[in-house]
Amino acid sequence: MKTLDTGTLGASRGNDLSPEEFRRAGHAIVDWIADYYAHPERQRVLPDVAPGQLLDKLPPSAPQQGACQEEILADFERLVAPHLVHWNHPGFMAYFAAGGSRPGVLADALAAAVNNVGLLWYSSPALAELEQVTTRWLAGAMGLPADWFGMIHDTASTATLHAVIAARELAAAKARQSGAELDLNRIVMYTSEQAHSSVEKAMSALGRGVEACRKIRCDDRYAMRPDELERAIARDLSAGLSPIAITATVGTTASTGIDPVQEIADIAAEHGLWLHVDAAYAGAAAVLPEMRLHFAGCERADSFVVNPHKWLFVQMDCSVFYTARPECLRSALSQTPEYLRSGQDPRAVNYMEHSIALGRRFRALKLWFVLRSFGTEQLSNVLREHIRLARLLAEWVAQAPDFELLAPVDFSLVCLRYRQEGASEAETDAANERLLRAVNATGEFFLSHARLEDRYTIRIAIGNITTTEAYVRRLWELLQGLARCEA
Ligand SMILES: *Cc1c(COP(=O)(O)O)cnc(C)c1O
Repeated sequence: MKTLDTGTLGASRGNDLSPEEFRRAGHAIVDWIADYYAHPERQRVLPDVAPGQLLDKLPPSAPQQGACQEEILADFERLVAPHLVHWNHPGFMAYFAAGGSRPGVLADALAAAVNNVGLLWYSSPALAELEQVTTRWLAGAMGLPADWFGMIHDTASTATLHAVIAARELAAAKARQSGAELDLNRIVMYTSEQAHSSVEKAMSALGRGVEACRKIRCDDRYAMRPDELERAIARDLSAGLSPIAITATVGTTASTGIDPVQEIADIAAEHGLWLHVDAAYAGAAAVLPEMRLHFAGCERADSFVVNPHKWLFVQMDCSVFYTARPECLRSALSQTPEYLRSGQDPRAVNYMEHSIALGRRFRALKLWFVLRSFGTEQLSNVLREHIRLARLLAEWVAQAPDFELLAPVDFSLVCLRYRQEGASEAETDAANERLLRAVNATGEFFLSHARLEDRYTIRIAIGNITTTEAYVRRLWELLQGLARCEA
């Protein structure tokens, strides 16, 4: 154990580090990170560990005496690191990618250093204004309306909860205008059966059960059926319920299905419902002009969410939420009466008035670093390459007699399964479960699964900066080899 040098004037007190100790430990950690980023492929992408192994390695209570940074870093490498999943590994193709980038690491370090807490504009003008600038830049890059209000949440789940809160507020205001009172026990909203669970979670968090979130049937491309949506709204209205919102998804989690936002926007307008668009993963693709067709109608939404921490190489957590009606959020969530606000400078945004959280991290800094480091041109190149790789894999799959695609490949996700001739659905499910386990056990790749029309589906999500064609080719060989010997 090393004691801290607190003898010199200006040195840190207590258990904080002296400037010299900090510099030394900081350099060691930057070196560690540089090596880590240089060779993500040297590790198994998934650790070969069982639950509780790390728990068993660590003492049951906090140490009484402090340790030096060298010792802590050594224990991190020896004890903690073997349990990491390497999200930046080129073979990480599970869920959706969230591999981040080096500029994101640097920005997060700076954000931790200055540790600004965004409450009011006044508590950090840098945070409040950079959040406005970066969200506006991103809206511009994605072809979204320039006048949307943007803010950065931790996750899309939080963003969607805010959308539903705002929708409820708008519905309550409309009811008041017509001299009625919105019965909160009768509100309902709509999304597709393929929507992310965060949509129904938002409804249950607001005190309505998940069943108040109607799951509208999808077509054979896993897109919400507008005719079914209209029928559900009509049914609820005639039952005396109060529809408040529709959440459409561009790029569903299971298969990147694309809801027909244009038609859904018509229905939302006809019934005066809030339209929220969940593009948590696929939204990144709107940076590419040739992909904009998938986002037609999104400009008519009341709110929209995209996660730069997924496919825009920003470190977790960075979920950008846009709304055309920030006043609904403010009237729902601001604790300061509106009449106190008249003289306020409109350029001084107080984000706490638009969110459940009072404090917020300086997330805009990493978005700023990443957008500036890459530029939209290089971001576009990387996204195009990922889409190309997904299409290439899809072509190979389409040509293989014993594999099949289970969903269209519109972005960078490929949904496939192995299918032996004559095998039943149950046998095919079991074979694919075994195949997924076998691939993941190699440590070379990490894939995840979903169920599409009750068929077990292997999902291959390409979205890491480090993933190249060679990796996709290797994965395809591995899948074929393992499928044929596992079956
Ligand atoms: C990943 C994802 C979410 C949830 O993201 P979090 O940021 O982890 O809450 C929501 N919707 C879609 C379509 C997603 O892909």
